[in-house]
Amino acid sequence: MITAKGKSILKGIAIGKIKFLAKKQAEIKENAADPAAELKRYEDARALASEQLQALYDKAALEAGEEHAAIFEIHMMMLEDDDYVEAITELINSDGKTAEFAVKTTGENFAETFASMDDEYMKARAADVRDISGRMVNILTGADTGPADSDEPFIIVAEDLAPSETVQLDKSKLLGFVTRLGSTNSHTAILARNMNIPALIGTEISEDWDGRMAIIDGYNSCIYIDPTEELLRTLDEKRVRDLEQRAMLQQLKGQPNVTLDGRTINLYANIGNVSDVGMVLDNDAGGIGLFRSEFIYLHSATFPTEDEQFAIYKKVAEMMGGKKVIIRTLDIGADKQADYFNLPKEENPALGYRAIRICLMQHDIFKAQIRAILRAAAYGKVSIMFPMIISVSEVKQAKAILEECRKELLAEGKEIGEVEIGIMIETPAAVMVADELAEEVEFFSIGTNDLTQYTLAIDRQNPKLDPFYDSHHPAVLRLIEMTVQAGHRHNCWVGICGELGADPTLTETFLRMGLDELSVNPGGILSLRKIIRETDLGGGKAAATPAEQEEKPAETPEPESVEQTKKKKFSLFGKGKK
Ligand code: PEP
Ligand code: MG
Repeated sequence: MITAKGKSILKGIAIGKIKFLAKKQAEIKENAADPAAELKRYEDARALASEQLQALYDKAALEAGEEHAAIFEIHMMMLEDDDYVEAITELINSDGKTAEFAVKTTGENFAETFASMDDEYMKARAADVRDISGRMVNILTGADTGPADSDEPFIIVAEDLAPSETVQLDKSKLLGFVTRLGSTNSHTAILARNMNIPALIGTEISEDWDGRMAIIDGYNSCIYIDPTEELLRTLDEKRVRDLEQRAMLQQLKGQPNVTLDGRTINLYANIGNVSDVGMVLDNDAGGIGLFRSEFIYLHSATFPTEDEQFAIYKKVAEMMGGKKVIIRTLDIGADKQADYFNLPKEENPALGYRAIRICLMQHDIFKAQIRAILRAAAYGKVSIMFPMIISVSEVKQAKAILEECRKELLAEGKEIGEVEIGIMIETPAAVMVADELAEEVEFFSIGTNDLTQYTLAIDRQNPKLDPFYDSHHPAVLRLIEMTVQAGHRHNCWVGICGELGADPTLTETFLRMGLDELSVNPGGILSLRKIIRETDLGGGKAAATPAEQEEKPAETPEPESVEQTKKKKFSLFGKGKK
């Protein structure tokens, strides 16, 4: 048995076989002796790539709808494009190149041509042609293209997992993951918590583990390879006990999040995709407090269109049946990168061109998303939230663009709905001007992950700094309290959607501070409900907070019918905030 230590992301036990996610550098030979044999290799690789893309199309269509899967159809068409195929066969037949060299060279040439075009749509095709060429090169060289679909559940072991890779994993089969790199505050770690699966980072891994039986012990921050029968039995019992505990929490479904002395708080869930909504409903969340919409962009090989986004937001709004859905606008940049954005390499990406900064500079991207959100709002209770705000002028600009979209949609005769407007408070600057910001919006949601990073001047991506990343630091807690007070002075409700919201040791503190909402990973809802219901703040029933005045009872809002929602008069500034 091999034991390796790491840092645990989620307490829990996972037992299963390992899939090692290798990222081998493909070795590419340039010249070949037999062009006919190379041509045959190329044609076989093209056929296999086409099969893989069809499988990806089917999976994406099932999980996210056909519009969202369309990109894989485009990739299949590109594989068969006459000019592309001709350029590859020419290099093989006339120049005596190997199949992989011909595919790689042609892919690069085509990508460069696309990238130099003025038309934004054509520019974005550069990433697509790179993608399909890379897929074929991987097939031809035997390099791994990621975990193949498997009937058996598996544990992923990898050097690192970028958010864009994590979203492509088959979640129904993923038991847990273990990486050598990564930090506990990275988005990949957050995804593990959202999926409620044990994960370790900072672990010395080995490729030899591939295919072997293993146990992730999230309680002891260990992975055991080829565990002994005895350990297997002991930890499996623990896993079963966890499941039983989870089953006991199910009894809290339908119960209010109310303290012993009568204080109510909203418990919402964080999601990154439509496929997470099932977990939100299963865990009886009162709404979605953070829909990280950038995961739609990470899932896609090109800019998702307004219609594609509309289909996703509408589906989420409808599935939530009248419960609140807070869609955060695009928060791309830093660790969340999509090639087709062509974002510049930066010295300090966390302080760089990201999130609302991109949206306020590239209106076409921003407007496609806002229009999709406004249209989806006709089908449910949708709120919009802007990330990474540092100043009032940014909020005013974002609202002006929202208003422009609203007018355009109405002029086009499109159906739209009312949206509540909020911002994330995740920079110290935003806390310091929270009184002014609260005049502009109806809610604040505190992003404690970034607020901690920017307050303590600690890169949340750097695993070396994990020991210093103290989100219980008094500076962070004071900033949270200041935000609540500023929000309430202006009739603005205030929640937390960062990871700290799920920290059970702070639940009572947050209740005392007067927070109106906590938005956490779906699997964390019922255990927080249990804590809240066992808490006594003393001193009788506190004065109702904005959330209580607005939404009583917090977790059982009267779902309105779609027809009612559609009839609602559209008003951008629900509380007269202009
Ligand atoms: C946060 O910063 O706390 C937050 C919720 O946003 P993200 O983790 O996606 O940056
Ligand atoms: Mg953030």
